[in-house]
Amino acid sequence: MTVGVLALQGDVREHQRLLSELGAEAPRVRTPEELAGVDGLVIPGGESTTMAKLAAVLDMLEPLQKAVAGGLPTYGSCAGMILLADRLVDAPADQETIGGLHVTVRRNAFGRQVDSFEAPLDLAGQRRPFHAVFIRAPRFVTLGPTVEVLARLDGEPVLVRQGMIMAGTFHPELTDDPRLHRQFLESVSSGG
Ligand code: GLN
Repeated sequence: MTVGVLALQGDVREHQRLLSELGAEAPRVRTPEELAGVDGLVIPGGESTTMAKLAAVLDMLEPLQKAVAGGLPTYGSCAGMILLADRLVDAPADQETIGGLHVTVRRNAFGRQVDSFEAPLDLAGQRRPFHAVFIRAPRFVTLGPTVEVLARLDGEPVLVRQGMIMAGTFHPELTDDPRLHRQFLESVSSGG
């Protein structure tokens, strides 16, 4: 199975490491040709405005929009989740997204004083909590009816799934816990 990591900016190597440890091929994706060769895609954490600009400059925005709309299994962490959102608030007016995930997302939504924190998350069907790292994290403001919540923090959604898209406000790539990457790989192999 080949799960590419969008390599414009951000935590690319960290995702590649976890995916390879789980036995997947995890090439970098920077061109439409590379995108066409993958069974699934991870969009990493980083800086969503930079990634969106680079995607546009490299003529990757439209191929990414088509691939996600066409059902390519895709996981977005933090900035990656922002890129997958249909709508943004508190973002530059011209910030484009790949879209496809029927949510509204607020960038940098936790304010400066708590802009980075870590918290244990309960995952459905799992006894051991997932140690989640939040860095200048976005928040879901609205969720469309087809969006399923996989994990909450203080009642608020932080990990969601909609069809073949998974997205979360935190960084599973910055820990050694492979459970969310494994869950994503399982969805790639079952339906991708
Ligand atoms: N605040 C960042 C953005 O808007 C996302 C933060 C992250 O990925 N750690 O892109």
